Amino acid sequence: MTPRFPVWPRHNFNTRIKPAMTIHASHEPDNALTGMLPEDIAETLQQPLMRGRQIFQWLQKKRVLSLKEMTDLPAALRGSLDAGVGVSALTVAARQFSEQSGTVKVLFALRDGETIETVLLRHGDRATFCLSSQVGCALGCAFCATGLAGFRRHLSVAEIVEQALHLCDEAHLPPNQTPNIVFMGMGEPFQNYDAVLKSIQILMHPQGMHIGARKITVSTVGDVAGIRRFAEEPWQVRLSVSLHAATDALRDKLTPLNRRYPLETLHKALRYYQQKRDRQLTIEYTLLANENDAPSDAVALAAYLRGLDAVVNIIPWNVVLELPFTPSPPRRVNAFVAALQGAGVKATVRKERGGDINAACGQLRAARAADEREQV
Ligand code: SAH
Ligand code: SF4
Repeated sequence: MTPRFPVWPRHNFNTRIKPAMTIHASHEPDNALTGMLPEDIAETLQQPLMRGRQIFQWLQKKRVLSLKEMTDLPAALRGSLDAGVGVSALTVAARQFSEQSGTVKVLFALRDGETIETVLLRHGDRATFCLSSQVGCALGCAFCATGLAGFRRHLSVAEIVEQALHLCDEAHLPPNQTPNIVFMGMGEPFQNYDAVLKSIQILMHPQGMHIGARKITVSTVGDVAGIRRFAEEPWQVRLSVSLHAATDALRDKLTPLNRRYPLETLHKALRYYQQKRDRQLTIEYTLLANENDAPSDAVALAAYLRGLDAVVNIIPWNVVLELPFTPSPPRRVNAFVAALQGAGVKATVRKERGGDINAACGQLRAARAADEREQV
């Protein structure tokens, strides 16, 4: 598929920040075996399907990423594999651990030197992996650290899947326990639709990690073309929509993609999705003090959600120092939630986890880039 790279005029909240719209469309073709289904592995290696399945299981179930350690493969095959076919696409470049919440944030280096972030959230003995889908993001939401740096490139399937493989090791999950997966790291998953789709197929594969569809959530800022395509997929994967505003004037400022897909167009696509899939949506709403957190904003949100089966997840804004916003104080958060609930909308406030390690998307990467700039 030809990648879609919409280039949006950036918001003008902060003129100190230069729009980062340079787009690097090309990258190495993805030949890492971790991005392949059993049949692709068999075809790539010109082996019978049975071998493809065997290697897939080593990679995705046993999480053995070294061909040398795949002890039941014929030695000749192991030797010949090492020559031309890559297995691993990521290496750990930095790690942060939050004592406060048990959250782990990993900065991965890709083969071309780019970096991405992945977050492991713990709640009791359950784990949620927050995966990235792109290096950077072209959509420039006004409050987002990832958007600040602009778009660099799409992630390959292997680069997406390996984030989950690494986090399985970090999480020490008991056998038979699978993580929740949310595509809420860096990037807009529907702008990299094909790779995200295939990575989900691999994550769900019964001979691999075998993660249930209902444990996987894709988060979009409102890419209507992607939502309509997603509605046709034959699975129960969940959809989350980052709304942040329920009037076009405000949403145009906060999430510039709204200029292409205004609220009414988005609403139509969401109704279509629910007709097709009959699934409850999650609406993400990041609260920014005096921007989108007035009781009247809650009333507008409740009106917008009429006709949709949705639960609202209020996200306290994680501070990004370069950006001119402040998180809503608890008093305003409570008033906002009360106004929503008063209007009959189901709403929860996401517990802040990992604030001490910059766990919002794009923040570790931004911190590291700033660090490197200082060393030059
Ligand atoms: N591009 C997709 C998925 C990645 S962003 C999307 O926008 O939905 C995942 C979530 O993190 C979004 O809901 C986004 O609004 C939120 N987010 C981004 N920056 C944030 C910040 N600084 N504090 C809190 N939430 C943030
Ligand atoms: Fe991109 Fe999502 Fe950040 Fe917006 S919030 S800039 S869509 S990653």
